[in-house]
Amino acid sequence: MLRIAALEKLVHQLNRLPGIGPKTAQRLAYQILREPELSTGLQEALVAVRETVHLCERCFSYTDEPTACRYCADTSRKDDVICVVEEPSDIVRVESSGAFRGRYHVLHGAISPLDGVGPDDLKIRELLSRIEESQGSAPITEVILALDPDLEGDTTVLYLAKILTERGLKATRIASGVPLGSDIDYVDDRTLGRALENRVEL
Ligand SMILES: [Zn+2]
Repeated sequence: MLRIAALEKLVHQLNRLPGIGPKTAQRLAYQILREPELSTGLQEALVAVRETVHLCERCFSYTDEPTACRYCADTSRKDDVICVVEEPSDIVRVESSGAFRGRYHVLHGAISPLDGVGPDDLKIRELLSRIEESQGSAPITEVILALDPDLEGDTTVLYLAKILTERGLKATRIASGVPLGSDIDYVDDRTLGRALENRVEL
C-alpha cells in the first residue's frame, strides 16, 4: 500500500463497509484511482443518495418522495393491516411475494440487549402512535410481525405482541423459520407468500 494520505483515507472508508476487508478495500481503492469515470460516477451517486433519499415520515422506509413513500401514498392498499419489518429492504421481499396489500412499518433493527439495542432505539414508539392515530379514521386492526427468526427477532416479537394485544389489536407472526433478510436468497417468493398467509396469531 502506497503511503499517500488521500489513498489511505479512501481505503479506510471502504474498509468500514460490511463485508469489505482491508485487502479488498485496497483493491477497490486502486481500481477507483485507475478509472476516473468510476470515481466520478461513485461520487455523483453518493451525493445523489444523500441529497434525495430520506426516511418516509410514516413507515420509515427509504423514499425520494417529499413526504410519504409510494406504499404509504398508494390509495389502493388496505389501511387496516400493517406489516412490521426490520429493514427497508425487507419490504421488497414481502412485495415480491405478492401476498400482502396492506401498509408497512420499518423498525430499523431488532431488540438486542447484547448489542445495547433496546425498544427506544427502534421505531416502536412511532409504530404505536401510528396505530393510535389510525383509530379515529381508518383503524389498524392487525399487525403482522415479519421479523427474522433469530434471537433478536424473537425478542422483538414477544415485546411487541404483548403491547399490541394489550391494546386489543390482533398481532400475528409469519409462519416460523422464514428469514426475510435480503442477504438470504434461499427463501423463494412463494414460500414467503405462504408464510404470510399461514401467519400465526400471538
Ligand atoms: Zn412510507
